[in-house]
Amino acid sequence: MTQIDQNSERTVTVIGGGVAGMSAACALAEAGLRVHLVERRGYLGGRASSYLHPGVNEVIDNCQHVLFGCCTNLIAFYQRIGVLDQIHWTSDMTMIEPGGQRSVLGPSVLPAPLHGLPKMMTAHAFTFADKLSLARAFNALFRPVQADSTETLSEWLMRHKQTSGAVERFWRLVIASALNADLDAIAVPYAAKVVRELFMNSAEAGRMGMSTVPLSQLYSGAEAFLKSKAAELHLNSNIESAAWDEETSMWTVATRSGPLLTDYLIVALPFEATAKLIPNLPPVVSADALTAQIEHHEHWPISSVHLWFDREITDLPHAVLLDREIHWMYNKGRLQPWRNVKGNYLELVQSASRAFAALPREQAIEQAVNELAEFFPAVRSAKLEKAALVKEVRATFGVPPGIDRFRPDAQSSPWPNLFLAGDWTATGWPSTMESAARSGHLAAEALCAAINAPRKFLALDLKPQGLMRFFKA
Ligand SMILES: Cc1cc2nc3c(=O)[nH]c(=O)nc-3n(C[C@H](O)[C@H](O)[C@H](O)COP(=O)(O)OP(=O)(O)OC[C@H]3O[C@@H](n4cnc5c(N)ncnc54)[C@H](O)[C@@H]3O)c2cc1C
Repeated sequence: MTQIDQNSERTVTVIGGGVAGMSAACALAEAGLRVHLVERRGYLGGRASSYLHPGVNEVIDNCQHVLFGCCTNLIAFYQRIGVLDQIHWTSDMTMIEPGGQRSVLGPSVLPAPLHGLPKMMTAHAFTFADKLSLARAFNALFRPVQADSTETLSEWLMRHKQTSGAVERFWRLVIASALNADLDAIAVPYAAKVVRELFMNSAEAGRMGMSTVPLSQLYSGAEAFLKSKAAELHLNSNIESAAWDEETSMWTVATRSGPLLTDYLIVALPFEATAKLIPNLPPVVSADALTAQIEHHEHWPISSVHLWFDREITDLPHAVLLDREIHWMYNKGRLQPWRNVKGNYLELVQSASRAFAALPREQAIEQAVNELAEFFPAVRSAKLEKAALVKEVRATFGVPPGIDRFRPDAQSSPWPNLFLAGDWTATGWPSTMESAARSGHLAAEALCAAINAPRKFLALDLKPQGLMRFFKA
């Protein structure tokens, strides 16, 4: 990549060391700007991070994070920082019913969108009526969904006569859980996007990736990359305000190591942290409009239960668990063999479950273990050596109908030389690492355009394959 005006000494300070801030900082550092990345915590990663849990004395992720082949900006970011080879990819999804009956969904040699059909047809998890109703819904999704549709996913499912099996075991468990919200709080275009990307466009788009190292270790690649580009990291620096000097056209932010003067700011914070910062930025009339936009956003929780058993419970690397509160099982010992786990280290994830997130620790762990035993009888004879419960109450933002009007884009900040990023900004993606990486790349592009050095950081979407090439999204 050609460097931007290397001697210009133009500086950009990125506030927030999550995926959004890291991807913006790395793109701009590579382009030749002088970059400062300021993060409140002592490590990078934000909502996708890991830490030494004192209760179990293990480094655990705050929650299993998965990506998919369609996450082109996240993959581009991983490529840039040299960690893509630490992602384990898989194309099969094992669904297990209480009692242990298994069904495997995944691609075949048929062209998209038929690639998933053979395994779907033989899946025990769905009755013939469920399969017909899913086929009806997928058929409807060949047509573009109106971006401004006010219909909720639950209304749409009713209109397309989905059976209760299809609703519970596919729409609620797979799609609503990927969007981390209830069916009646999801806008149809977001659900359609997930279905098309994961199940229709191509086998490559739908494959799932999981890190083979703890998330903070994965993202330490960004730290090394930034240092190699002479960028500066300011950890443990909580930014509470920023001042704009009209005469010099410079921003000043107070970091832990002293005031930082910078030409440009990228605010890459979650929506509530952005709202907190706004009153402490220079007063401008349209700041109220931004605050009003933020007020429309709402959080959804995700909980995860980490269990260490003295013996093997399952050799499956991961599975979708049907009809219970625990939704996803990740066999962390298998996915991360360097852990040298003697028995099994399993992580169970509960998406969009406010009821589960409200349970006290002991009760949540007991419920998770009891439910797990319904899928894997070996649990009953195994000894649970240790357990941890992680509740992320503010895990993701919701995507109800109409939410796009309240997702500002990178350039729509009311302050000079200040750009917005973060998964909640206008990326068209739900609350994911891909949305965060996209927002970082979009903010970096907006900044380069502002200094008359336009360049592209946004990675192209994967092209639909097979017959899907003939259907417009
Ligand atoms: C439990 C859980 C499970 C998830 N599962 C998945 C998944 O499987 N797949 C997926 O793609 N996504 C998943 N997500 C969502 C994903 O983690 C987020 O969408 C993404 O990480 C958001 O990145 P971000 O940079 O926009 O925000 P954040 O990660 O929130 O980063 C913002 C950063 O700003 C810092 N900060 C805040 N205030 C200040 C301040 N005043 N000064 C300086 N720094 C500040 C924070 O410490 C943080 O590091 C999950 C999230 C959670 C919590």
